[in-house]
Amino acid sequence: MDKIRQFIRFLNEIGYEEVKTEGAFMAEENCNTENGIDELENLKEEVLKCNKCRLAETRHNVVFGEGNPKTNLMFIGEAPGEQEDLQGRPFVGRAGQLLTRFLNLFGIGRERVYITNIVKCRPPNNRNPQPDEIKTCYPYLEKQIEIIKPKVILCLGAFAARTVLNLPEKTPISKIRGQEFKIKDYIVIPTFHPAYLLRNRRGETDFQRDLEVALRIAGMI
Ligand code: URA
Ligand code: SF4
Repeated sequence: MDKIRQFIRFLNEIGYEEVKTEGAFMAEENCNTENGIDELENLKEEVLKCNKCRLAETRHNVVFGEGNPKTNLMFIGEAPGEQEDLQGRPFVGRAGQLLTRFLNLFGIGRERVYITNIVKCRPPNNRNPQPDEIKTCYPYLEKQIEIIKPKVILCLGAFAARTVLNLPEKTPISKIRGQEFKIKDYIVIPTFHPAYLLRNRRGETDFQRDLEVALRIAGMI
């Protein structure tokens, strides 16, 4: 395993942005039944047609989420941005590429984890999602969590952390990042949003530490 990890790290160093590991590492991941995979597909079909809030009027694509439905580690961001809205995939813009690079640093391809957001449609001009939009969309995320049953949930940014942990509106991320919260059967760890890291490189050390803790609890490193 260490040799493979070293090789993936080497590939990253010589410029491969995203190393696909296909099904090679699946065995360690939790043993959700095939039922879960069908349930997730059915939910996706439903969400792709959703018109329950005003964000449906301006979006190009619903961004349901993607990754390994059997993973132990789930990432939750805020909302799709421009690139995500155009491609219908989470975290594919600049912030997403940074997230992918951090995962690759630990020898993990992004298809081994599951990545989604609090709201599934892009708020116009990347404004914050409004409380009623979150309230309408949140049950989809709850179902995703229930189906995937990750061991660890990494909340990317204050917004995701406050929503998932039900914290007061002004709670600063710097105060709670890196802490482990036990919610039902899940360990929830808030950390910085990768978009924040693009502007504040000093946050990278903490982010890397939080990611490492999450990967360890998930049994992925
Ligand atoms: N920022 C987010 O919070 N989510 C994405 O999917 C992309 C950028
Ligand atoms: Fe439906 Fe969520 Fe999109 Fe609103 S943001 S339209 S609730 S999927």
